[in-house]
Formats: sequence, structure tokens, C-alpha cells
Amino acid sequence: MSEVLVVGSGAAGLFSSWLLARDGWPVIVVGKGTPSSAMSTGCLRRMPEACHEKALNFLADEGMPMVTGERTGISKLGTPFECWLSPSHSTWGPEGAPGSVTVVGFQGHPSLHPNLISSVLGHQGIRARPLTLPSTLPPDIPLTALFRDEGAWEGVATEVQRTEGGTVHLPAFLSRRDYWRLDWLERQCGRTVLEAVTPLEAPGQRLLDLMRARAIEAGASIWDGRTVTSLTVENGSVRTAIVRGGLEVREMEVGALVMATGGALVNGLGLNGRELVDPFNAFKVLDDGDVLRGGYATKEGRLVSRSGNVVRNAAGAGDCVRAPCKGYGDGLPHAFESAWTAVKALEGA
Ligand SMILES: Cc1cc2nc3c(=O)[nH]c(=O)nc-3n(C[C@H](O)[C@H](O)[C@H](O)COP(=O)(O)OP(=O)(O)OC[C@H]3O[C@@H](n4cnc5c(N)ncnc54)[C@H](O)[C@@H]3O)c2cc1C
Repeated sequence: MSEVLVVGSGAAGLFSSWLLARDGWPVIVVGKGTPSSAMSTGCLRRMPEACHEKALNFLADEGMPMVTGERTGISKLGTPFECWLSPSHSTWGPEGAPGSVTVVGFQGHPSLHPNLISSVLGHQGIRARPLTLPSTLPPDIPLTALFRDEGAWEGVATEVQRTEGGTVHLPAFLSRRDYWRLDWLERQCGRTVLEAVTPLEAPGQRLLDLMRARAIEAGASIWDGRTVTSLTVENGSVRTAIVRGGLEVREMEVGALVMATGGALVNGLGLNGRELVDPFNAFKVLDDGDVLRGGYATKEGRLVSRSGNVVRNAAGAGDCVRAPCKGYGDGLPHAFESAWTAVKALEGA
């Protein structure tokens, strides 16, 4: 089997890689920068209809189990956050909102503001008490640094045990490897422990770590910090790619290609004035005047050349693909669904 080049190592690229590698394809993933997947809340707002069983298999993780269904969590601001798939300590299910919550923040640290959140929760009918714990951590250092030793955890458990309230609400700061500590805290203080559902912090990075680990386990090779700078398309197929990174420039033969480069925010697509453009100058891009929903034109998953012909061995997935119906908070489910369609298209080619 010839090599599949996946360009972009966010949710769409990693899920495609996992599917392809499990089916026996040799897969190389080339990725640069921080994918927007790592900035997300790490939760899916809706079920990815076309492939939800496969997506669940992909995200299965004993250390940070995912829960599904109609679920609600509390955002960093105390507002409700609805989602269908989330890490087990982020949301509650049909049993309903907690009656009373202790909101834990750390002195002088911006990770969570207990007074603000308690007030917002109060307006939703949830009895909330603020608890500010002492901390000497500068505001620009992530809380993870405070919790490297067991003593800090013991301290939080002791303080929380002294308070009233059934649920403890914490900032979301744990890495995937340390997620088990929330179970430990729950056992120690005899309360349900919930973390804030927060973008631009640990939750998205955890989801990315998990997806990378799963793609590597399945056999995909990930080349980090590299950029695919050009592609040649001949006779209706992508033939070669130039990959640059560090001091190296490599030309590789391409058996098949998954374009999963993300939106304009991560330079997956270029902007010429207000118009979206293909940085490779090879494929058709449509934006209908809406750059957030615009992207590569596809036909049943496969990319279309600038002259309008379907490219036989290239498919597109995720934010770089045009999705006229994509709604707010729909990015991750769309990344999974479009990756599934892309892989089916390539395997059927
Ligand atoms: C702050 C924030 C919060 C969000 N919250 C949610 C949420 O709660 N739920 C939800 O469903 N969605 C959310 N989204 C949207 C969601 O994160 C994205 O829609 C989704 O992650 C897109 O995945 P992707 O794989 O298509 O792209 P990305 O994750 O952006 O990955 C694309 C990667 O490809 C790289 N790349 C680009 N060009 C090249 C090249 N030539 N060579 C190599 N690599 C390249 C990019 O640098 C990037 O790293 C959020 C987005 C943001 C910014």
C-alpha cells in the first residue's frame, strides 16, 4: 500500500489517521503550530451522527473516561454548558444540576473567580459558596505547577471537607495523565468533583494528547513542527509533497492525501482581503462570503481541483472544508464526521 499523507494534526487529521492506520494504511501526519482542537473545551456539543461509535472507540481512555448523552456542565463564568460528550468530571447527566456547590478558587490566580461564579450560579437556583484557598502562584503560571506535590492535594481535600455543599467546582487545570486525581479528591472529601468547562486551557490540550496517543498506537507516524509547503497534482492525482521543518526539506511521494489543515485562524486557509484562498494554489475554495463556513470544495469527501475536477486520491476534513450548515460549537463533531467521509472516499478510490 502506498503512503497516506495527512496534513494537519488536529482532531480531523488525527481521527483520519487512526481510521486509516487501523485499516492497514501506512500513515504520516505532518503538523505545525497549535491546532484549534487544543484550544477547544475538549467537549463535543452534539453527537457526530455518521460515525459516533467509531468516535467513541477512538476517544476511549481509562485514565480520563468520556461520558455521553444530554449533559450539562458549568463554564469558567458559571454559565451552563451543554454537550453530548465530555470527560467524566466536566458535566452532569439527567440526574440534574447539583443543589449546592462549593466553588474553589486560588488567591490572586485568575483560573476561577469563586465570588463571580457563585453569584451567577445563584441566579440559576444553585446554592453556591465561594472558597478561596491561599496560593503564592503568580497569575501567569498555570495551576498545574501548584499541584505537583501530594501535599497540595491533601490541603485542598482538607479545606473542602470543612465546607458544606454536595459538589465541588474546580478550575480545569489537570493534564490527561493527572486526571485520576479528581477521582482521588472525590473519595477523600466525599463530594462530587466537577471541573469548569473551559476553552484555551487544559481541556482541549488533554483531548489533543488523547487523540495523538490513539493515532500513534494505531501505527501512524506524526512529524511535528513540519509544514507541507507545496503539492504537485498531475493527471487528476496528488503525486508529491514538499515537507519543511527545522533544517530539513524533504520531497515525498504521496499515495493519497488527507487535507486537514484547519481554518484561517491556524493558517490552514489563506485570506486574500476578505476572500479565502488555498495556500497550495491547487484546489477549489468556496466561501459564499462567509469565511467561517467556507473552505475547500469537496465532492463526497474528495477535493476538487481549481479547474473543477475531482482529485482522485485527495480528500478534505475538518475546518478547512466548506460546511455551509456548521453551527456555533459544532467544530469537533464536524471534524469527526468529515474525517470519516474523507477516509471512506479514499478507501473507495
Ligand atoms: C477557543 C476555541 C474554542 C472552541 N471550542 C469548541 C468546542 O467546545 N466544541 C467544538 O466542537 N468545537 C470547538 N471549537 C472549534 C474546534 O476546535 C475546531 O472546529 C476543530 O478543532 C477543528 O479541527 P481541525 O482538525 O479541522 O483543525 P485544527 O485543530 O485547527 O488543526 C489543523 C492543524 O493543521 C495545521 N496546518 C495548517 N496548515 C498546515 C501545513 N501546510 N502543514 C502542516 N500543518 C498545517 C494547523 O497549524 C493546525 O495545527 C473551538 C475553537 C476555538 C478556537
